[in-house]
Amino acid sequence: MVTLSSRLPFRNNIDCNSAFVYNMDDTKLDCKGNDVLQELETLTVNAKEAQEFILTKILERNQATEYLSKFMNGSRNISAFKRLVPVVTYDKVQQYILRIATGEDSSILCGEQIVELLRSSGTSQGEPRLMPSILKDLDRRTYLYSLIMPIMSKYISGLDKGKAMYLLFAKAETLTNSGMPVRSVLTSYYKSPHFLHRKHDLYNNYTSPDEVILCPDSQQSMYCQLLCGLVERQHVLRIGAVFASAFLRSISFLEHHWCDLVNDIRIGQLNPSITSPACRLAMLDFLASPNPELADQVEAICSCGSWKGILGRLWPNVKYIEAVLTGTMAQYIPMLEFYGGGGIPLVCTMYASSESYFGVNLRPLCSPADVSYTILPNMAYFEFIPLEDGLRLTDHEEMVENDRLVGLVDVKVGCYYELVVTTFSGLYRYRVGDVLQVTGFYNQAPQFKFICRRNVILSIDTDKTNEEDLHNSITAAKKILENRNYLLLEYTSYTDTSTVPGHYVLFWEIKSTHDESPTPLDCQLLESCCAAIEESLDYVYRRCRAHEKSIGPLEIRLVEAGAFDALMDLLVSHGSSINQYKTLRCIESGLALKLLNSKVIACFFSPRDPECSL
Ligand code: AMP
Repeated sequence: MVTLSSRLPFRNNIDCNSAFVYNMDDTKLDCKGNDVLQELETLTVNAKEAQEFILTKILERNQATEYLSKFMNGSRNISAFKRLVPVVTYDKVQQYILRIATGEDSSILCGEQIVELLRSSGTSQGEPRLMPSILKDLDRRTYLYSLIMPIMSKYISGLDKGKAMYLLFAKAETLTNSGMPVRSVLTSYYKSPHFLHRKHDLYNNYTSPDEVILCPDSQQSMYCQLLCGLVERQHVLRIGAVFASAFLRSISFLEHHWCDLVNDIRIGQLNPSITSPACRLAMLDFLASPNPELADQVEAICSCGSWKGILGRLWPNVKYIEAVLTGTMAQYIPMLEFYGGGGIPLVCTMYASSESYFGVNLRPLCSPADVSYTILPNMAYFEFIPLEDGLRLTDHEEMVENDRLVGLVDVKVGCYYELVVTTFSGLYRYRVGDVLQVTGFYNQAPQFKFICRRNVILSIDTDKTNEEDLHNSITAAKKILENRNYLLLEYTSYTDTSTVPGHYVLFWEIKSTHDESPTPLDCQLLESCCAAIEESLDYVYRRCRAHEKSIGPLEIRLVEAGAFDALMDLLVSHGSSINQYKTLRCIESGLALKLLNSKVIACFFSPRDPECSL
């Protein structure tokens, strides 16, 4: 008899071409060649059963943990779980994770050994959130990755005949006091055999050597990856990065460094500024001999006026650009269209996080605005908090009653939900913080549009600053003003992505408390306010600013007296109620931005990188 567990696919994709299929209990099930799409059918047709199966297994393995025992008293019963285990945010789990970080046994949270802590881009009191991870999580993530190329190949043929120039970056990692690695989820994947042993897989033939991807110095890594991509330009069929922000930063890097890159190609030698021995060694094959012909071609393209459409000229065989372009990354679509010249499709393939991977886009050639992700029911146990008033995004800390939660297959088309996950690695009914809207179903598995991250108002790269974070950091800077007899009357903010990297902009209206003889406002004072704000923004912001250089210096735009009154008049004239008017802490509307910009009297930038220890 075929049992449920033996029907549900869970591939352990160490070898992509002879894909061995494992069931979710990790018992070898079948060898199905490359027919992962058939597996996806089975999985989505049986989404409800798959979810029940996943939860049963999670409870079986983790029932004895201190965390679950506290609520379920050793029971592994699903309805007891639903009744008794509370829906939580990170602060409720943090103490367990920190105990593990300081050397306590994983079993307080998870039935299996926690092997690493994944540093997510979410923060808690300014510090990065750490997510527990077990070895088998790598198989789950690999399963999702293994679906991408078969899905793409349904729409575009011949992708196995060339290479991918994906600009992938590993980040520096640390160890906890007890010696457990703390790294980003992608760094974990790039270091794993699942990634490193993909070599024979024609669909995952990358121009960038692994040693270069793994170089923790992102500038050296970027230089070498672009160089490889240029050397192999005729073979490149797809280009991209994980997030659009990283891809655009690499293009901007190319704008600044193409002369050096062309020179390296011309003389067959790597620029001496690349000092990483691993990178230098890996690049030997790419610069085996001088190639003046290729150097001339690249030079002619890069030096010829506008960079509109440059990607198609540099990589003439490219069939699509891949990057996450949904959520906050949507702000980069126009820039990518500019560099792509409008003719190269922009493709978003997947939705994932450090907590768990979630889903894939089954219609990858749709416009980025229409992307929906189909949730894979074998990644984790998924539940959803209905946002009944549509997008009521301010109640992040509210207690959520257990009976409000809706199961994966029970969500309703058109409705908004906040995502909650229960994982094998020790998160139970954990609020991921993402707001999703159901757009339809693929078989039994729902498809979601990513709407936003709860509360986030400013984001350039992986940073996510909410209204409260912004308010707290501005409060710190206000003190500097007050010591010099100035008051901050009003402020709002804006993410300026017209610069690369993008940066936070604050519009400030300031008033002197000495109307008679105001002290002149000096540049240094406002610059120190910029620096103070950056110092008190959270860890991920500071890391992106100081180490990854993916965010530019924060800017304060000082506006003339009355500017915020004019803003209020404008918004009221566009329908805001004057009674309930509150200054928006983040400006998105083009008209409001135009108005404030027209009132700017001076701009100041942060003069230094904020402190950030890795
Ligand atoms: P991290 O845990 O640092 O990897 O960040 C994960 C978060 O990034 C998710 O919870 C989402 O908020 C966001 N994210 C990941 N993938 C996507 C996507 N495809 N579209 C929009 N946002 C995404």
